Amino acid sequence: MPRILITGAAGFIGSHLCDLYVNRGYDVIGMDNLLTGNIDNIAHLTEPNFHFIKHDVTNYIYVKGELDYILHFASPASPIDYLELPIQTLKVGALGTHKALGLAKEKGARFLLASTSEAYGDPLEHPQNEDYWGNVNPIGPRGVYDEAKRFAEAMTMAYHRFHKVDTRIVRIFNTYGPRMRIRDGRVVPAFGSQALMGEPITVFGDGSQTRSFCYVSDLVDGIDRLLMSEYVEPVNIGNPAEMTILDFAKTIIEITGSTSQVVHKPLPVDDPKVRQPDITRAKSILGWEPKVGLREGLENTLAYFREVLVAEGKISGEGGAGA
Ligand code: UDP
Repeated sequence: MPRILITGAAGFIGSHLCDLYVNRGYDVIGMDNLLTGNIDNIAHLTEPNFHFIKHDVTNYIYVKGELDYILHFASPASPIDYLELPIQTLKVGALGTHKALGLAKEKGARFLLASTSEAYGDPLEHPQNEDYWGNVNPIGPRGVYDEAKRFAEAMTMAYHRFHKVDTRIVRIFNTYGPRMRIRDGRVVPAFGSQALMGEPITVFGDGSQTRSFCYVSDLVDGIDRLLMSEYVEPVNIGNPAEMTILDFAKTIIEITGSTSQVVHKPLPVDDPKVRQPDITRAKSILGWEPKVGLREGLENTLAYFREVLVAEGKISGEGGAGA
């Protein structure tokens, strides 16, 4: 069976990837420094199929034995994280990607980089296809993430071209699902938890900015297809169903049956005004498109948030908003 290393294994997406490959019978090594990851996300995975190594991938990575695949998913991933962990965000995208690529070269492993729609910045083209070079402010608060990921893409292509490492790059658009950190500041856990607790829904700006939300099982399927493909150029994976943040707030209120009201807060610096993936490439090369609709995906995700809030004593287990 293939042997796979997943960095950022205790994170939201990393942990779902661990599940996928453990269930397929692969030998999975999960690596994480638990800075923003949560060990509970992978607590159900056990030896002999799964091994956890606590390690910060900005330092030399040592893995004993052979490796067939390396999935590099380690990074803080929410705008609040970038503000609180700017240096770590830059280091893991830059130094961490270098270390993970060095390991891929040493082991002859196929390497997949988790890149991002943030590579397009506040886009001047809409929707975004992979040939668009982006509109990123290098010195703004989000620059630490955007530029680290853009550097990571450049480093990945350099290892591919110069060292002949077999590489893949996925540009991940807004994704949601169970195991998102409830207080990571991103819009899905923010609105979801606010609605469940009956607190005001904090729409930043007038809420006219758009996002397109992909359910995590669809994303993981797309990543797996890309990993198994022979395609080296970046591929967008995301759900093209675009909506305004204000409409998203209304949808959350409606699904939870919450009494929460919308309140407006200042728009963060450099917040992209629009975002929607062009998934023509993923469709034609990977035969991939998302299957899970927003309502179904949100119901699963809200059930998870509800469990977490009940465990924390923030809402009662019986009844309450959205129960
Ligand atoms: N947002 C919001 N209220 C919140 C959190 C986020 O209105 O409590 C907005 C944010 O300004 C952005 C969108 O929701 O326009 C998505 O934000 P998120 O942090 O999820 O990720 P982004 O897509 O900006 O990377």
